[in-house]
Amino acid sequence: MASIYARSVYSAESAYAPSTPIDEMSPIFPFGTPQSPDFPAEAYLTAQHLVQQVSYLLSDKLFVYSPQSFSLAEAATAWAATGQRNGHGDVTGVVPTETRLGAASVLLGYVLSKDLAQERRGMVQSIIASSASLIPMQSALSQLALLYGVSSPFVAHISALDYDVSKERLVTDYVTPLTVARDTGLALIATSSVHEAQDMALFATVVAEIFPVINLVDGVRVGRETGRVKGVVSRDEVYRIWESITGEFRGLEKKGCKGKKIARLLDALNAELGTGYQMFQYTGAEDAEEVLVVFGSVEASLGADVARHLNREGKKVGVVSVRVYSPFMEAEFLKVLPKSVKKIAVLGQVKDETEVHDETVSSLLFGDVFSAVTFSEEWSLPPPVVDVKYSRDQVWSPRHFGAIFEQLAGKEQVAVAEEYPKEGVQFLSGAGVNQYTFWDIDDAPTAKVSAVLARALATHRKNVSYTSTYDNAAQAGVIQSEIRRGDAVIEAPFHVDYADVVVVGDANIFKSFDILAGLKQGGTLLVKGAIKDEDLEKKLTKEVLKGLVLKDAKLFILDPTNEGESEDYESSLLELSFFKIANAGYTQESAAKKLASLSSPDVLKLVEKVPTALREVPVNKEWAAEPVVAEGEEAPEPVEAPVLPSVPTHSAFTINDAKLENTARGILKSSDHAAKLLSFKEAYGVETALRPDLPVKNFIVKVQANKRLTPNSYDRNIFHIEFDLTGTGLTYEIGEALGVHAHNDPKMVERFITFYGLNPEDIVEVPSRDNPDILETRTVYQSLLQNLDIFGKPGKKFYEALAPFATDDAEKKALLTLAGPEGATEFKRLAEVDNVTFADVLLDYPSAHPDFHELAKIVSPMKRREYSIASSQQVHPNSVHLLIVVVGWKDSRGRDRWGQASRYLSLLPIGASVTVSVKPSVMKLPPLSTAPIIMAGLGTGLAPFRAFVQYRAWQRDQGLPIGPVFLYMGSRTQREEYLYGEEWEAYLASGVITRLGCAFSRDQKEKIYIQDRMRQDLEWITEEYLGTETKEDGSVVTKGGAFYLCGPTWPVPDVSEVLMEAIGKDAERRGVKVDRRRELEVLKEGGRYVLEVY
Ligand SMILES: Cc1cc2nc3c(=O)[nH]c(=O)nc-3n(C[C@H](O)[C@H](O)[C@H](O)COP(=O)(O)OP(=O)(O)OC[C@H]3O[C@@H](n4cnc5c(N)ncnc54)[C@H](O)[C@@H]3O)c2cc1C
Repeated sequence: MASIYARSVYSAESAYAPSTPIDEMSPIFPFGTPQSPDFPAEAYLTAQHLVQQVSYLLSDKLFVYSPQSFSLAEAATAWAATGQRNGHGDVTGVVPTETRLGAASVLLGYVLSKDLAQERRGMVQSIIASSASLIPMQSALSQLALLYGVSSPFVAHISALDYDVSKERLVTDYVTPLTVARDTGLALIATSSVHEAQDMALFATVVAEIFPVINLVDGVRVGRETGRVKGVVSRDEVYRIWESITGEFRGLEKKGCKGKKIARLLDALNAELGTGYQMFQYTGAEDAEEVLVVFGSVEASLGADVARHLNREGKKVGVVSVRVYSPFMEAEFLKVLPKSVKKIAVLGQVKDETEVHDETVSSLLFGDVFSAVTFSEEWSLPPPVVDVKYSRDQVWSPRHFGAIFEQLAGKEQVAVAEEYPKEGVQFLSGAGVNQYTFWDIDDAPTAKVSAVLARALATHRKNVSYTSTYDNAAQAGVIQSEIRRGDAVIEAPFHVDYADVVVVGDANIFKSFDILAGLKQGGTLLVKGAIKDEDLEKKLTKEVLKGLVLKDAKLFILDPTNEGESEDYESSLLELSFFKIANAGYTQESAAKKLASLSSPDVLKLVEKVPTALREVPVNKEWAAEPVVAEGEEAPEPVEAPVLPSVPTHSAFTINDAKLENTARGILKSSDHAAKLLSFKEAYGVETALRPDLPVKNFIVKVQANKRLTPNSYDRNIFHIEFDLTGTGLTYEIGEALGVHAHNDPKMVERFITFYGLNPEDIVEVPSRDNPDILETRTVYQSLLQNLDIFGKPGKKFYEALAPFATDDAEKKALLTLAGPEGATEFKRLAEVDNVTFADVLLDYPSAHPDFHELAKIVSPMKRREYSIASSQQVHPNSVHLLIVVVGWKDSRGRDRWGQASRYLSLLPIGASVTVSVKPSVMKLPPLSTAPIIMAGLGTGLAPFRAFVQYRAWQRDQGLPIGPVFLYMGSRTQREEYLYGEEWEAYLASGVITRLGCAFSRDQKEKIYIQDRMRQDLEWITEEYLGTETKEDGSVVTKGGAFYLCGPTWPVPDVSEVLMEAIGKDAERRGVKVDRRRELEVLKEGGRYVLEVY
């Protein structure tokens, strides 16, 4: 059984009753944010809440370095805003601060300031931040450590958390805090569970009286998992304990042996709390022979649980979890290590996989443990110490620890591996704990069902724990949530892998995850969707049906289809259905009453709908049967099912911001209802997507991949971006382009709003992006972000239209001149050399200041940009791919300038929504699959050819004969710009591409361009492009080859010249005279010489 927490000193009063209404409830924090820092003795809380409580209550100022999406100090910020008193009787100053180089110097200035009021000197000053913020703070922290004798007490409460750009996921980063603590000399304390979070924050704050300190909690899982915490210390008690301990120790010299002083403070805290915390916490057999040393919240908690579990099986193992890493008190460490130990393994984090496999790199923790053991006089021959490294993106399960202990007993080398039977460490099942997993599309109306159920399932007798994960890449945004429920308080910081019930809100999710892997034998799967019995295999996939048989599971389908019902209807029906099948001790009526008390009484009326909407589908043994092969027939080749992940990749804490269409959040601050509603509508793309009056059909698609293809150090950013089309109905053909509606840069928009003196929330009517004849109602901010091309190039008409608004005569005259023939040269210079924008003109002529309604009429609307589609929908039915180069230059005023759409797209995170349309194209493949194709692409000009080649490969897979495929690609260097190089080579190796001609112009002394490569192949090109073939019936027909050139315009003349040479050669062979240029025109008209240049 995972840890059960109990502390005798504080008796339970009442369970914390959350007050957040359901419709305002976050899908990840069902119990909401505590309204005040005075917590009851028992409450549903996260470790983050507890850390915020202590830091708020004891600090004078709380400096917050948290990206908005991390919401590390949400509660503290709210308490300060509502004037909640801290332990000193004041309102804590919560100061949001940006993380940048030199961060923390604000704090440094504050704590060392001579001007600090006398009564504030000596008061605790704290930071709340993530690991990622520590590097830019390092130099300020070093100074603080040096000047600590004259500084106020200082604590940095750090969430071990970072975003790994290459892995596109959130990671638990201990490497940075450990390194910073070691390099700056700060003390470092770690928390292993939500139940310890308050105590450790308090401990860190008392330590701060003597040493500056980092208090560390895992920020990905433990910090944000909600659990019922018992024995929570109230506001007054927190203050009293802090004062009592610090009062006693205040006289201690700040210098001297740090470790010893910290140990004394910990004893004092234990005496106050009735706890038994140690600097190194040992769990396991007294006579353990194999001992694992761990650092970190999940590591400590899981390691101890697995060790206890193995002890019960008679295994002599144990775990030392490091609570105080810095200073590393070797004597204390050796004290807790069992004397019987024969082998020690150190589980230490390193940065990434490369470091895991690099034998020259050891973890920091290994270094400390190794020297403690090696230089100890305890042993004449010290036990071996092995380094077990893991990277920051490691997601732990009990199996990993089972496997580590198993290796530790037998092998010399120990590595992190999952090869350990799942059942071997199932300490939650059979211990009266029920487990439920929920999967849904992150912005689905039912995405909050799991959170509502967590609240409904939490009763006085039953405890729940709840955690959610956003995977912004899969299906362009999936939320997965887990509930555990039992009589005791549950602490299990790992994914549910033995669920009683798994609920899936959208069957598409089966395509991205092996969902059944987390269902227990005999469990129940509930899927929502209008799925008919005959569509089961198509919608749920063959593998899922087979899995249901193998797991002896039950299958329920909830079809919520009911015209005209609200979104709440679907959620309530799903909640009731869950209760119907989950055996959670509720009848339908009692469940409905419970749900009605949380949300709306309408739920009560839905009970009668459940029997018709919810049906059990008998699991058919045939689903797992091998296909029967008729006698004489050959068994079909077994088709390997793709290996899907069983758990989501934790890529964000929320639906990606950009999915909400970069609306006016942050800048639209007042409560103007109309403006808010408008922003909200747009946020979900309702306006554009559902307007039949627009000439082009728009779709809202979501980014599912966005990868830079050129090295970061290279000056050209060429990137590959993919959009998920699931459920959009968007279809495209080979060669078509995608129209993209980009946004202006929000920062530039904000600056313009300030400079022009606008109210971002005012409502205005602006021409639609798609059809300027249609007016849309938007806020000022939205219209500048999405409608008006305010940073685009003004034409003469703008100068002309602006002139009447100028109140300064000289300005009016100048504007009129620029609009007229005398100003033509200057106008050209402004447009082409200075690249001035509408905004620049307004800045340059300040007396011309039309109000925004007038301005909206004279600034051009933003235009969509087109991008050749780089994928074939036959191969990628649910996605569309683009290859884009970011346009960028320095203008004559020395400003960095960017192309609007290419820059916007390059910055889009996974999950962001984008409005797109499909544009027909001239880039058509010849009708015959056997017709030769010759393609020449420069840079991003390769995009449509990727689609062509994919399509030809698909044709071949369908059994069609395919003709020769020649691809000529040009770029500067192979190292930096070999775009899709590996793909081309694979197609060449598999025979889809017949000839690959690469021209890397700068890779050798003499410049080589695509026309040079083509010229080298002139014989072949002539034959395949213009040659003929004799058919079986003796007829001679042209091969019908087609030539395509795509990308920038400049190679057109040179490439055309090579084609004309081929035409000449062909004529020579045939012994005829031709007008080469005219022949090329004929080929063009016949669709066999196709240019797409931009
Ligand atoms: C059918 C078609 C297919 C296309 N396919 C692709 C594709 O696959 N990949 C791709 O990347 N692009 C493609 N494009 C080009 C694409 O549509 C955009 O034009 C391009 O991305 C630039 O748009 P932007 O909004 O980023 O730049 P904009 O905001 O439109 O800025 C471009 C403007 O910036 C100015 N500018 C640029 N560089 C400089 C400079 N050095 N000095 C001064 N001014 C400068 C010029 O005024 C230029 O017109 C395609 C275009 C078409 C028509």
